[in-house]
Amino acid sequence: MRNLAVAGTGYVGLSTGTCFADMGNNVTCIDISEEKIAMLQRGEAPIYEPGLNEMIVRNMKAGRLHFTTNYDEALQDAEFVFICVGTPSGVDGEADLQYVRMAAESVAHAMTHSVIVINKSTVPVGTGDWVADIVRRSQPEPIDFAVVSCPEFTREGSALHDFMNPDRVVIGSRSAEAAEKVAQLHLPLRTRIIMTDLRTAEMIKYASNAFLATKISFINEIAVICEKLGADVEEVAEGMGFDRRIGAHFLSAGLGYGGSCFPKDVKALEHMALVHGSHPALLRAVIDINRDMRRWAVYNLREMVGGKLDGKKIGLMGLAFKPNTDDIREAPALEIAHMLRNEGALVSGYDPVAMRNVSRSDPYLRLAEDAYDLADGADALLVCTEWNEFKQLDLPRLHSIMRQPIVVDGRNIYELERMRALGFAYRAVGRSHSDSEGNGV
Ligand code: NAD
Repeated sequence: MRNLAVAGTGYVGLSTGTCFADMGNNVTCIDISEEKIAMLQRGEAPIYEPGLNEMIVRNMKAGRLHFTTNYDEALQDAEFVFICVGTPSGVDGEADLQYVRMAAESVAHAMTHSVIVINKSTVPVGTGDWVADIVRRSQPEPIDFAVVSCPEFTREGSALHDFMNPDRVVIGSRSAEAAEKVAQLHLPLRTRIIMTDLRTAEMIKYASNAFLATKISFINEIAVICEKLGADVEEVAEGMGFDRRIGAHFLSAGLGYGGSCFPKDVKALEHMALVHGSHPALLRAVIDINRDMRRWAVYNLREMVGGKLDGKKIGLMGLAFKPNTDDIREAPALEIAHMLRNEGALVSGYDPVAMRNVSRSDPYLRLAEDAYDLADGADALLVCTEWNEFKQLDLPRLHSIMRQPIVVDGRNIYELERMRALGFAYRAVGRSHSDSEGNGV
């Protein structure tokens, strides 16, 4: 049993703290948001992550998981403090490090004994050294500490499973002793531990996310070519994915990546490259293609409703950036809603769990009660998020209540032939349009 503090109770901090508590450690999570901490102290998770709330309550009851806004209290006995605060995009695409700076300063002020500061936030290469400087300069009196980079690779929607079953744990530090202690902390996970230097650990995180984003943009570029040439991208991806050199993951054509990581991390890596005089042509193409997929949706909707979106009722199925999360940061649905409204469309949306967040961030989006309410009187539906509950809808019922039975499937969740047989005008990403509308080639 070790004593841990975790700064930041967002998607990463809360999962990290709760999982470490579940492994038997004594964990205190800190956040500057009094509202979040008050909810957590009542045993309520402020975010939606499958299984998280139950795990929080279980570990609180066992006396291993605590929540506070007070760094002094959290660091009292802590041997390790994880920094898990947000690193959003700055004005020029760079990672905004203001929250990391604040957390590092707070740690320095609260420190009464030697601790290991572990950076889990995704931060530009070199930030570990910068954090060490901040801690050193902010300490009221010198106390020994070490900085370790241990980037997070979990996915929202399966964060607990990913945390407990990682493909690898990456640990980078200038201090071999501190790195070894952090490695010990992760031993119960029985996984491969990659020990490296600080900067390399930070780069592994960016390179991994940029590579996954590249796979998504790659298959989306292929998808658009498939549409022109009459090939089916779903089968192309399947045919590619069996090749072990390629792998089947992240080859799903669709509206592109979103969320709190890929968009900002690819931009931040592009920014790092530019600032240091290199020309990140591939990263720029990845970003461009991703943006184009939002336009793909608007273009297809416009064409299918007769050339003009003005006055057309469009329903967005799914608002979260991906299924099993309520995270709407950089969600394709919300960007598309904005683009559709710019052309005069009347846009509604429905999502199983993200509507509370959407009502705060986009008050102009009418929220439907369910998929059928969304379809009622709609001129077209756009599938934005591949939630399971959309896969088994009563499609004949959907068809009967829409003003025009038009479906643009931005996540390829329906069968072309079935949709066509039911009488829908149906388009999916990377699957021949003329064919699906029954016109032949
Ligand atoms: P988030 O926005 O959900 O949570 C950040 C939390 O930090 C907020 O609750 C905020 O109130 C709190 N905070 C801000 N300043 C603070 C301070 N000084 N002290 C204590 N708390 C403070 O962010 P997130 O999605 O959990 O991401 C955190 C980091 O992890 C980011 O760098 C992100 O890129 C990275 N990451 C995220 C994911 C993911 O799936 N979300 C996965 C891997 C890595």
